[in-house]
Amino acid sequence: MSVGTELYRKTLLTVAGNKAVENLSLKYGKKLAGKFIAGNTLEEALEEIRVLNSKGIMATLDHLGEGITHLREAALYRDEYVRLVEGIAHSGVDSNVSLKPTQMGLALDPEEGYQNIRAVAARAKEHELFVRIDMEDSPFTQATLDIVRRLHAEGLDNSGTVLQAYLHRTEEDTRDMIREGIRLRLVKGAYKEPASVAYQNTSEVIHQFKTMIRHHLDQGVYTAVASHDDHIINWTKQYAKDRDISPEAFEFQMLYGLRMSEQERLAQEGYRIRCYVPYGTMWYPYYTRRLAEKPANLWMVVKNMFR
Ligand code: FAD
Repeated sequence: MSVGTELYRKTLLTVAGNKAVENLSLKYGKKLAGKFIAGNTLEEALEEIRVLNSKGIMATLDHLGEGITHLREAALYRDEYVRLVEGIAHSGVDSNVSLKPTQMGLALDPEEGYQNIRAVAARAKEHELFVRIDMEDSPFTQATLDIVRRLHAEGLDNSGTVLQAYLHRTEEDTRDMIREGIRLRLVKGAYKEPASVAYQNTSEVIHQFKTMIRHHLDQGVYTAVASHDDHIINWTKQYAKDRDISPEAFEFQMLYGLRMSEQERLAQEGYRIRCYVPYGTMWYPYYTRRLAEKPANLWMVVKNMFR
């Protein structure tokens, strides 16, 4: 990442919480954000997943929402997630579930947040569906790992979480989670974190990312590599090939609306590829993070504004 790109990312992540910017983005961004969002409703999202599945792409379905301010919102999100689980099960699409702990109330009342997540995981277990607990910013890292451990202790082993390569603590967490049999999605990390907790330098993040992937593949643990970065994708393919590790032993994951032709290409090459499909009306924070990650996403938006 160049200094310019890094500055762009930091600036955008800083303004992401700014009300004026939010209002501006809400005014003009909604239509444009559609590129990254599969629809406003569950039914629209399931239809998109059907199309992805027909191209050999699996999915994980996310109902947008984070940073809630009242527990009653968390209860509504929980109910929507139960509906989402039922929707996947009854439509027969190949998809699992992704949810954010703060959307379920973690920041307001950790116990109630846990019970909401537990309710979703329990319903998913009835349908043999997997629930991925997304990882948010570092104040929630430990609490999120604790939630997944508690779910497993209660027999809800259809749950897993995400580890972020940029955090200093991640190498140790990776070892612990592998030992405890908890399935992980591996990512670089999407939030603005201080140097006290996270590597700021791209090469360090890449090094850490590869270490996490290596720990998984070497131990024969199913590996989910979530990245659009060709360097990481090609490195993973080559690492597996050199050691005769089957393509069935790992999957790639990418976000809806990003590198869709690459997602199809990976499927055609015989790799397992899963698309993270968000839907709903609470698209603003998700959308801003996508813009922060890659300036080209912003140019795409600007170009579309004049069409
Ligand atoms: P980047 O670092 O954004 O880009 C590296 C290089 O990849 C670019 O220079 C370019 O060569 C190539 N590239 C990237 N995008 C494109 C593009 N659109 N077109 C062409 N080339 C491109 N983060 C969290 O913190 N918590 C989570 O729970 C979480 N879940 C995620 C789930 C999924 C499925 C994915 C894909 C990401 C998730 N993330 C999550 C986000 C992640 O942490 C990164 O912020 C995000 O993926 C950007 O990093 P990257 O590795 O994809 O590539």
